[in-house]
Amino acid sequence: MKFETKAIRLQTDRSQHHEHSTPIFATSSFVFDDAEHMRALFANEAEGNIYSRFTNPSVREFENKMAALEGGEDCIATATGMAAIFATFASLLSSGDHLLMSKAVFGSTFKINDDYLRKWGITYDYIDPLNMEQWTALVKPNTKLLYLETPSNPGLDIIDLEATSAFCKKHDMLLIVDNCFATPYLQEPLAFGADISIHSATKYIDGQGRVMGGAIISNKKIIEQIYPFMKNAGPSMSPFNAWVLSKSLETLAIRMDRHCQNALQIATWLESNSQVAYVNYPFLPSNTQYEIATKQMKAGGGMISFELKGGINAGRKLIDAREMISLSANLGDTRTIITHPASSTHSKLTPEERAAAGITDGLIRLSVGLEHVDDIIADLKL
Ligand SMILES: *Cc1c(COP(=O)(O)O)cnc(C)c1O
Repeated sequence: MKFETKAIRLQTDRSQHHEHSTPIFATSSFVFDDAEHMRALFANEAEGNIYSRFTNPSVREFENKMAALEGGEDCIATATGMAAIFATFASLLSSGDHLLMSKAVFGSTFKINDDYLRKWGITYDYIDPLNMEQWTALVKPNTKLLYLETPSNPGLDIIDLEATSAFCKKHDMLLIVDNCFATPYLQEPLAFGADISIHSATKYIDGQGRVMGGAIISNKKIIEQIYPFMKNAGPSMSPFNAWVLSKSLETLAIRMDRHCQNALQIATWLESNSQVAYVNYPFLPSNTQYEIATKQMKAGGGMISFELKGGINAGRKLIDAREMISLSANLGDTRTIITHPASSTHSKLTPEERAAAGITDGLIRLSVGLEHVDDIIADLKL
């Protein structure tokens, strides 16, 4: 089955009512037939649900769909995207380990390093995503994994997944890719050799700004290593959110097609405007990483970042002049959203960390929605 069909037709459980659309299994726990059934379930000798922190049919359906859509053997759904990232690090890293992380990652991902990994004796170095030659010098005998985002938030840096996965295999480390901006529809990191793909399902997977969620997709062996953290520490996805997200996946392909179409048109328009200093959009032919982007992505995605020649002051004026576009920290919504990363999503970083991640004070991030493109352009009063 093709992507669109899988996203709609993969359904795990039906009740005895023969419902067409998947029901929500809004139950915190499950009953056992008898004492022996209970014992067998707890002993892992029988398949079944015990408690929704461990497994739940609505959550399982979302997990099965995500794994199938991204070519992974299995998936763990989590309460948020950050829970997916934290569960992965907490499960795969031990005191004394070292990790490499791209400088261009989501603000809260940085905070996990500084606030938690450091105090547990896990060390890390940041790599320049666009300068692979420098990476080898940072590899240590205890380097366990490399973590990156492509396209990155908010600079939209593109990292060559095939080359990076070859680098990781050579140095015997796992490659983890935050695939949030691309979604499984536009990019399949595992097909390029990544070991784990991570999502904030809060963004395009929901796509309508309603619920939070996250997903970890990998092979069975790695998922088995992460699952006990889920079960015991409990950052599990709620059945309601899983139900919303499974339904959302049914329209992911068609939504992404329009996000990409609108974004490319707006990026092209921005680039031609005399007040714009530069535009970051992976599928603009002028983009220095256009070749890699078109090799590993089906289309450029719905995110654009740009800076006006007038810098921060001109950027603030543009933000305050809008009438329709939402000023919000979220992204990947039907509604177009504008953000100023330096004073919001990445404000907890030091100015040096922001500079290293390519987040200048004047950078504006635009999450292009599904309104008519003419109305979005009309609201960007340049
Ligand atoms: C939003 C985001 C996250 C975190 O996801 P939450 O669902 O907000 O916890 C992680 N990575 C990227 C790239 C994001 O944009």
